[in-house]
Amino acid sequence: MMSTLSIDIGGTKIRAGLVDGGAVTEMQSIETAPGPGEDEIMPAIIRLAQSYDGVTDVAVASAGVIVDGVVTSATDLIPNWAGTNIAAELGTALDVPVTALGDVHAHGVGEATYGVAKGYPSSLTVAVGTGIGGAFVVDGKPMIGEHGVAGHVGHISHGAAANIECSCGRFGHIEAIASGSGMAAAYERATGEHRSGPEMDQEAIDRKSPALKVLHDGGFALGEVIGSLTNALDPGIIVVTGSVSRAVDPWWQALRCGFAAAIMDPVNKTPLVKGELGDEAPLIGAAAYAKVKNA
Ligand SMILES: [Zn+2]
Repeated sequence: MMSTLSIDIGGTKIRAGLVDGGAVTEMQSIETAPGPGEDEIMPAIIRLAQSYDGVTDVAVASAGVIVDGVVTSATDLIPNWAGTNIAAELGTALDVPVTALGDVHAHGVGEATYGVAKGYPSSLTVAVGTGIGGAFVVDGKPMIGEHGVAGHVGHISHGAAANIECSCGRFGHIEAIASGSGMAAAYERATGEHRSGPEMDQEAIDRKSPALKVLHDGGFALGEVIGSLTNALDPGIIVVTGSVSRAVDPWWQALRCGFAAAIMDPVNKTPLVKGELGDEAPLIGAAAYAKVKNA
């Protein structure tokens, strides 16, 4: 059988699988090599890819900013990843066509083509995890922008984040208070103690006030940002995904309240839903994007 092999390169894990439409088979996962970065990661990815038979093309979803198959910038989670020409290096090693795009862009395309946004001509996907990313997808194609940066929802200014440093080095961006790490930091500022996401969720379920307030403030502020983006972009549906989207009701309630507070009347019926593809979304989206791009 001839198949598209999708590879999702993240800061902690590299996943691969054969993708046929919305189905992923023969999924494998390896740890992203810590330390030496590209020197060790690329050979590991090539070995992983070579373990599959009958691959006709490779579709990559990668952490970082991707322009024309090249990683133009990446976080410290994958050292030395910036500068890697994914498409050229994998294409040469495997002798098949390779397409690559950012992992959040791929996630958005996955939800738009085979996930909860299927059937909507346009969608805004917001991924809330350690950071906050996003993808505005129209007719199966993500808006990538002139520098591959389009969709960086986490780096929008919000008053509640004033004077708090963001992962990008600027101050006042929503990611600094509403991402998983941002809410953990807010909890620590309020109490002097560290909590994981699940621990904060449990405390919120138990109606303990520091966790409830942190989840409420982060959720409400992010809801306002998503409402503002909806006013500007008018997507058919908004998909919220990522590890924080699995958070408890108080976070979702606050998110919906913030959204309702910011949304303009003509777009206030826009569905705001949880993503449904999970970890497979970037694999499915990368393959779908390769099809659209190569068509
Ligand atoms: Zn930022």
